[in-house]
Amino acid sequence: MTSRGYSGIVSRDGQGHYKDSLFLLSTGRCYDGHVIVDSHTHIFPPLMRQQREEYLRRDAAFAEMYASPKARLASAEELLAAMDEAQIDKSVVLGFAWSELEPCVRHNDYLLEAAARSGGRLIPFCTIQPRAGNDAFREMERCARAGARGLGELRPDSQGYRLDEGAAVEVLAEAALRHGLVLLFHVSEPVGHVYPGKEGLSVSSFYRFVAGHGGQAVVGAHWGGGLPFYALMPEVRRALANAYFDTAATPLLYEAAVYRQAAELVGAEHILFGSDFPLIDQGRQRRAIEEAFAADDPARALILGENARRLLRLEP
Ligand SMILES: [Zn+2]
Repeated sequence: MTSRGYSGIVSRDGQGHYKDSLFLLSTGRCYDGHVIVDSHTHIFPPLMRQQREEYLRRDAAFAEMYASPKARLASAEELLAAMDEAQIDKSVVLGFAWSELEPCVRHNDYLLEAAARSGGRLIPFCTIQPRAGNDAFREMERCARAGARGLGELRPDSQGYRLDEGAAVEVLAEAALRHGLVLLFHVSEPVGHVYPGKEGLSVSSFYRFVAGHGGQAVVGAHWGGGLPFYALMPEVRRALANAYFDTAATPLLYEAAVYRQAAELVGAEHILFGSDFPLIDQGRQRRAIEEAFAADDPARALILGENARRLLRLEP
């Protein structure tokens, strides 16, 4: 145990206990100082929240997912308040895979500004439309320079490009690698119930991309559409060396047994705590992981934040 990041604030008593464990708890950290990172949240700029109807008309994928007034569009302030409530240290804020580049850019501006104002609590991932060619790659460079740590949540099928063929994807992968950007994709379960926004990228396309771009760190959202279950095939397991799977929206998709079984299949070091806020309450998703792994199980700290901290090179 270390008091990393808290020197001068907390100290241990003679028995090795932190004197100020209440303070630690109030910041969301475990007793041993592990960071808690929600790797999958969505926030939208005020303009898009106010002009929701216009964006519903403009973008078919957005309409599919947000036509229902029950589908919330959250602000950065609402996310920060939720993080305080659920004791989350940092959240990755994702954009939306708009079909046009222009709303991607507006959304990116908001994510980057919100992150810059958050004192390190919000980690921005931006989106681009690769079909926009050079403009898309210039936008990716701008985002990387302004602090983006990744691109996502990307939905190649909704955005109208193929992930397993074509020059645009090669340029995307090459540029992401050059800028050290993690690529986070929505991956669709090929089976099971239908829900708004289910289709975004097939497991087979995602796998071909991962297998063909071994140097690129990639996150498959929502357990990568089930790809971890194929890790019992030796060549698949080898291909997943640089792949991560997030737990976003798990309570809507899987039984709670998924946490331990997926950890056994791909290793806990490949799993990231993600809620899909505001769809799923951050505290609910965090508790589900805590119920699956005992406090002294190293998998718990890895999944709740340590994997994300290493992957995204976050300050402790
Ligand atoms: Zn998703």
